[in-house]
Amino acid sequence: MIGTSLALALAPLGLRIAVVEAVERSASEQPSFDDRSTALSRSTQRMFEAMGLWPEIVAAATPVASIHISDRGRFGFSHIAADEQGVEALGYVVINRVLGSVLQRTLRDVADVDVICPARIIDVEIEPDQANARVELENGEKLALHCSLLVAADGANSSVRGELGIAAQTARYEQRAVIGNLLPEKPVANRAFERFTEQGPLAILPLADERAAFVWTVSEDEAERVLALKDAEFLKELQEQFGYRLGLLSKVGKRVAYPLQLSKALQLTAERSVLIGNAAHGLHPVAAQGFNLGMRDVAALCDCIADAQNAGSDFDPGDAQLLERYADWRRADQKKLVGFTDGLVKLFGSSRRPLRALRNLGMLGFDLIPGVRSLFAKHTMGLAGRLPRLSRGMPLK
Ligand SMILES: Cc1cc2nc3c(=O)[nH]c(=O)nc-3n(C[C@H](O)[C@H](O)[C@H](O)COP(=O)(O)OP(=O)(O)OC[C@H]3O[C@@H](n4cnc5c(N)ncnc54)[C@H](O)[C@@H]3O)c2cc1C
Repeated sequence: MIGTSLALALAPLGLRIAVVEAVERSASEQPSFDDRSTALSRSTQRMFEAMGLWPEIVAAATPVASIHISDRGRFGFSHIAADEQGVEALGYVVINRVLGSVLQRTLRDVADVDVICPARIIDVEIEPDQANARVELENGEKLALHCSLLVAADGANSSVRGELGIAAQTARYEQRAVIGNLLPEKPVANRAFERFTEQGPLAILPLADERAAFVWTVSEDEAERVLALKDAEFLKELQEQFGYRLGLLSKVGKRVAYPLQLSKALQLTAERSVLIGNAAHGLHPVAAQGFNLGMRDVAALCDCIADAQNAGSDFDPGDAQLLERYADWRRADQKKLVGFTDGLVKLFGSSRRPLRALRNLGMLGFDLIPGVRSLFAKHTMGLAGRLPRLSRGMPLK
């Protein structure tokens, strides 16, 4: 999702780009453009607007008019509404496969971009004036690619990151996110729900045709058990966790579980190379921010490259100062989001008394202290801090 988006975002600069992707989009095991639904933030929306892709994406997406946040077994809840924040939607929900078809179809028509797929980067060698990547095609044939800048966008278990000698800190949450979709009895009416339960957070997101997507976080052992349940039993347990705000839940579709971990690369760049998206930071999906954070990496990298190209004839997209500017720009946002999502999981996942008291106070403060909700909404919409051109909805060129 992030690598393809970067190639599309850079298209106006006329650079020669190769995208190497291991798994074809149509393959059932495609790990990025799969059956999950992604909540796109306002800043991601602006980026796709600036890239001219928004009309096609919005036609397949469902707007989120409000978010209802609650803690199972407690009375307190909070509510954020788009109209209160002065925006037409807090975000848009799109199925990854659908987003993938828009992005990849568009990419095929961009001159100067070669898509090499299915193919895998198997090793990397960096020289002072170029990065070299060895690529293995499906039939075993090998290709050698030489470039000024190598971008690793190969996900949380990035092998390219390892090839570059960049270490990552990882911590397993010992939880899995069980995803799928279902049909609630009452209209979802563009509402998203985030419910914190003893096991972990449970999100319900609005989809087209009155269906809803769910992301249910459960412990590793529980995941095996709930995946094996018959549909009716699964719905009964989900209903118990979620309650009856949407009436009876029915018609659950295919369920898939994702292991959850926090990962942080210890460096964002190395000589002639940069990490973006999950290769740089893999988050818990509790706040639906991973893809959106990766898109802000894309926007900032595009800005740094466009500025360097505008500055003069000795333009080099892999220049060390350009990469340093990029890393300086992105560090704070990434650190904040990693801390925020990890903190939410720990705060709401704990049954320890002091933390429970803190979270009750937190929920209260969230609703009662003026400005706290707006600040939270601004951060989750991706509109805080210094924004690159694309995140402001401005074309690169
Ligand atoms: C259950 C769940 C729900 C989520 N919901 C949201 C949400 O609502 N909003 C949000 O913003 N984020 C969400 N996220 C996070 C989001 O899915 C990720 O942040 C996003 O997928 C990261 O994209 P990426 O392109 O960096 O990595 P990935 O999606 O992991 O893609 C990596 C790609 O690299 C390819 N690859 C790997 N190795 C190689 C190699 N050696 N050579 C070539 N190609 C290779 C893979 O085939 C894959 O296509 C969610 C995550 C989960 C698990």
